[in-house]
Amino acid sequence: MITRARQRAARASLAALAAAALTALSACASPSTPTRPHSPAPHHSPQKAAPPTLAPGPQGLTPVFKNAPRAKQGAPTVALTFDADMTAGQGPRARAGERFDNPALVDTLRRLDVPATFFMTGRWAEEYPAQARAIGRDPLFEVANHSYSHYSFTRDCYGLPTVAPHRMRADVERAFAAFRRAGVEHPVPYFRFPGGCYDQRALRALAPAGVTAVQWDVVGGDAFATDPRAVARQVLDGVRPGSVVVLHCTRSAAPATERALRTIVPKLRERGFRFVRVSEQIGAARAPKEGRAA
Ligand SMILES: [Zn+2]
Repeated sequence: MITRARQRAARASLAALAAAALTALSACASPSTPTRPHSPAPHHSPQKAAPPTLAPGPQGLTPVFKNAPRAKQGAPTVALTFDADMTAGQGPRARAGERFDNPALVDTLRRLDVPATFFMTGRWAEEYPAQARAIGRDPLFEVANHSYSHYSFTRDCYGLPTVAPHRMRADVERAFAAFRRAGVEHPVPYFRFPGGCYDQRALRALAPAGVTAVQWDVVGGDAFATDPRAVARQVLDGVRPGSVVVLHCTRSAAPATERALRTIVPKLRERGFRFVRVSEQIGAARAPKEGRAA
């Protein structure tokens, strides 16, 4: 049992942390998307071809994807992404009972038939190998890389410990190795920087890894949030055609996300949005005309 005083104190400190994070994270400030006519329920088709990547940036730097083209025709797409965060140093907290996973969230995505992309840390896959494997083998989902240790790739990123530049590529590859050991056979070559923090040096260091960095244009605001209605509102206010939404698959740090999804998913479908994985959006960004829904 958690006492009310403790709950209040936890809420206050979590709210402060969330406010600090939100201030620094990029958020979509656009007004809400106009209502669109209802479109048929989306279907997902298993992807067997190699996932599309963006071409390297100037001087061969790691390319950065933020959102798909704002297509004017066809059903607008939105990609829900879930960071499965666990930091290298959080093993003792997991052993003490803290839950960095969220099986109910995964079940809800399946029940609602929502394709999604999980940005998983290698440490998370080591802690929850059966869940990592089940997510990786489900054609509804794709597993992407969120580093091994969830350390920062820049010097100053929400107080996260920092990865030295000469260790950056190895950290990313260590996560892919952890996925393979867990039984995730086909992770996608996408990488999300912990905290979303990156600079030229990090993009250069990761160039040999061949990954596409994936940011977002909508902050779900679910980190440390306890009110699912607030999370749902923030997502629904932010989503535009082609949006990438960042949310979390971590019960302890994002306890409201699963409930928020039960509102977010039907509301976006009412607006005509089609849920897609990030790979489909990157494919659309490479070939905008092909990316339009038929
Ligand atoms: Zn993260």
